[in-house]
Amino acid sequence: MADRGPRSRVIPIAAVLLLAVVAGDLARRALVRPAAPSGAISPRAAAVPDSAAGRAASAAGDRGVAASAALTAPLDDATRTAALQRIDRDGADTYLPAMLSADDSALHRWSDDRAERPVRVAVLRDAVPGFHDTFFANVGWAITRWNAVGLPIYLEQVADTAGADIVLTWADRLDSNRTGRADVTWGRSGWLVHVHVTLATHTPDGREVTPREMVALALHELGHALGLGHSPLVADALYPETSAADLTARDRRTALLLYALPPGSLK
Ligand SMILES: [Zn+2]
Repeated sequence: MADRGPRSRVIPIAAVLLLAVVAGDLARRALVRPAAPSGAISPRAAAVPDSAAGRAASAAGDRGVAASAALTAPLDDATRTAALQRIDRDGADTYLPAMLSADDSALHRWSDDRAERPVRVAVLRDAVPGFHDTFFANVGWAITRWNAVGLPIYLEQVADTAGADIVLTWADRLDSNRTGRADVTWGRSGWLVHVHVTLATHTPDGREVTPREMVALALHELGHALGLGHSPLVADALYPETSAADLTARDRRTALLLYALPPGSLK
């Protein structure tokens, strides 16, 4: 009996985190919209849908939203009111309102102390078919672009998964017609805990991803890893079928607004 106490405390915590992963995936599936031609750079080459854009989805949508909403603790009334007023005031030129309406009305992000204690991003060099060192450099550049936004956190690229907060690995191809995915885990309070990003070296139809597309994919999935949802506007890095060569001003404004708000459910 003596050792049952600690174990019984551990299990519920693990269960909450696991459920958050599942709910996150479902919620992202809920975001799916019909694929619009993106075409800013090259319509064909630009089609690099990620997990959030997965085709899965229309059917799974509402259930995912409901499950996820139940898992993120609501803000107290005063904090919620202040957050909604801030979004009303500063959210017009961002996709944060779109994130809230599509993503269970909950916000998730890394905590404010992650500037002094950087968010460690382990970028591995996996020996998967089609992997090039250029892709590694593409991801490194995407990390510098997010760091240049001026968020109150800092992404530190590391080579070792030990102690990493975000782990980025590679795959030859991904299932469900995706080219990238981000599995995001948060605690009940809404603070991000861990993210696993997977980038594919080939598109679902078997074509090698170009370095330019890898930049777009890395910017996009790292945006999810920071807590962002999808933008409805084609130019943005967080558009589901992005072809963005860099973050847009709207990507930056949305991330800055997210990190000016407390995490939690705004329902
Ligand atoms: Zn996405």
